[in-house]
Amino acid sequence: MRDDIVLQLDRATAEDLYVALHQAGEHIAAGVAVTPPAAEEAERLGTLLRDLGHAIGRRCSPYCDHL
Ligand SMILES: [Zn+2]
Repeated sequence: MRDDIVLQLDRATAEDLYVALHQAGEHIAAGVAVTPPAAEEAERLGTLLRDLGHAIGRRCSPYCDHL
């Protein structure tokens, strides 16, 4: 379908995404504290967020010229 977004994730990023979404869900549902990611996890999640943002047409910064 033309509006579908397809991202290919390496295993480490997929694991980081799973943990982040799971923790967010538990936090919202039950107030469970969110454990901050390690530096390398945060870096992978930041890259994923940037790439996903670009895929849906969002700029990663006010100076973004990736679109
Ligand atoms: Zn950008």
